[in-house]
This record gives sequence, C-alpha cells and structure tokens, in this order.
Amino acid sequence: MKKQFAVIGLGRFGGSIVKELNDLGMEVLAIDINEDKVNEFAPAATHAVMADTTDENALRSLGIRNFDHVIVAIGDNIQSSILTTLMLVEVGVPHITVKAQNDYHEKVLNKIGAHKVVHPERDMGIRIAHNLVSKNVLDYLELSDEYSIVELIAGDRVHNHSLMDLDLRAKYGCNIMAIKRGEDINVSPAADENLKKQDILIVIGADRDITRMEQDLF
Ligand code: ADP
Repeated sequence: MKKQFAVIGLGRFGGSIVKELNDLGMEVLAIDINEDKVNEFAPAATHAVMADTTDENALRSLGIRNFDHVIVAIGDNIQSSILTTLMLVEVGVPHITVKAQNDYHEKVLNKIGAHKVVHPERDMGIRIAHNLVSKNVLDYLELSDEYSIVELIAGDRVHNHSLMDLDLRAKYGCNIMAIKRGEDINVSPAADENLKKQDILIVIGADRDITRMEQDLF
C-alpha cells in the first residue's frame, strides 16, 4: 500500500513538499488554515483541506492518526507549530517531521517527541557556505557535528591516479562511496579504479579530514 503523507502549513517549504511528494506518486493530504493556500495547492495534492491544526477536534476529524508521516511546516507561528506537534505525538502518528524556526524551537520540538526536526534555512546556508568557500565542493551534507558527506570534483592532482595510489582511507580516514562520471554512477568503486579529471567523488569522513584532503588533492 502507498504511504500516506499529510503536510500541515502550505508556505514555501510545506508547499514544495506537497508538490514533490505528489510528483513522486505519493498520496498527500495538504492542510492549511488559510483558504487561499488550500485552493492553491488543491491541484497538487490528493486532498486539500482547510483546518486549524491547533484545534484538537479539527485535527482528529481529519483522521490524522491514520497517516504514516505528517510534516508540520507551520512557519512563523511557533506556538501553533508546537501545539500541533504535541497533538500529533499524543495521537501516535508514527513519523512526525517538523520545521524549526530557530534553535529554541528545535529544542522544544525534540523534547515533546517530534521524530525529526528540520531547519531548512540554516542547513541550506551551511551547504551554500561550503560551496562558496571551496570551488571543488559541489554539495555538502552534514551527518553530525563531526562527520559529513561531500561531493568533490576531481582535478589535475588526482587525474589518472587509482584509489589505491591515493590511499585516501589510510592518509585521510575518508571513504569514496561513489564516483559519478557523466551519466554513470559507480557505487562500489574498486581500488584499481583510475580517477579522471571532472569525475565527481562522493566522500564520507570527518570534517577536518575532508578539509585536509580537499586542500591537498582538490
Ligand atoms: P514558509 O517560511 O515555509 O513560507 P510560512 O510561515 O509562510 O512558511 O507558511 C506557513 C503556513 O502555515 C501558512 O500558509 C499558514 O497559513 C499555515 N498555518 C499557520 N498556522 C496554522 C495552523 N494553526 N493550522 C494550519 N495551518 C497553519
């Protein structure tokens, strides 16, 4: 059976989640307190309803507990976001993802039992900063305070060297998870794989090791 999603709050963030889930062929219920927003997203959602999700009866009458995953994308109104999340936790929704507006908001959401808290503006800021600092970093995903996954473009210094030659695991403690070359992607690169200029390497490691490797080789 298809997973059932509900998205509460149809601003830029919630709205783009609705559209993307719909494009991915998922069932998605779009909810907003504002009728114009509901009308705007009705064509992109399986159902779109107007409701104030801080009203417990309204939330229950949507049958919200039957959804596999609920995304709370209420933006500025932190109180509504917290109250909505609390009720979703109480009715036992199995996966609750909430957008946090700031660090305090994030702390409260974690405390009351949100399963995942996202901070899109902050996270995107971090990614963009990494792209700005190093022209060889295409993308950046923070796994924890210490570890990340980055996409690096291979340049002259690694051109025609094999992974064995470069010995990145021993020298930098970094692992190459995959190599993208044009349209091809190799998810289990062999040790004798020769890198080419313009290859995109997907690397996992500790931030300080990745930085060291980037400075030496990229
Ligand atoms: P973004 O920064 O992602 O654009 P916004 O703050 O613009 O976020 O959007 C949040 C949406 O959440 C708005 O469309 C707003 O109408 C909706 N919203 C706010 N409070 C509630 C609530 N209690 N119930 C349902 N939707 C709400």
